[in-house]
Amino acid sequence: MSFRIGFGVDFHQMAEEREFWLGGIKIPHTKGALGHSDADVLLHAICDAMLGAACLGDIGVHFPDTDSSYKNIDSKILLSKSFELIKSEEYAIVNIDSTICLQSPKIKNFIPQMQQAIAGLLAIELNDISIKATTTEKMGFVGREEGLVAYATILIKFF
Ligand SMILES: [Zn+2]
Repeated sequence: MSFRIGFGVDFHQMAEEREFWLGGIKIPHTKGALGHSDADVLLHAICDAMLGAACLGDIGVHFPDTDSSYKNIDSKILLSKSFELIKSEEYAIVNIDSTICLQSPKIKNFIPQMQQAIAGLLAIELNDISIKATTTEKMGFVGREEGLVAYATILIKFF
């Protein structure tokens, strides 16, 4: 059995009058992430980590934002499709660790729901998907609530 590691990062602007989708769930907030899809920054970072671990390019290669079929798409579909791509190369997920970086709202209480959503899509256990949250202590674009960032690492195994 061999193991491979992957890393992903994603950024989105925050804007008024957008639904806020994060980690596969909708978070009540006055703003939401702006993007071609539903702009779920955590799911995008996980997609990139997964594709990166298998050396399959990135989310932009497989799901280009110039393709109108991906407009406003639910990022859970992109996550499932990325998972299918690594599965077709005979990889399985060992575990994922991730951090979401945003100033507000507080998302700690939503993390169990996000874990459930992601574990369900990727057929892994809840303790195989770690999600952490931090702020930037009000510094920079995250601190000014102009945007948010997510980072993800993944370990995959090949049989
Ligand atoms: Zn994104």
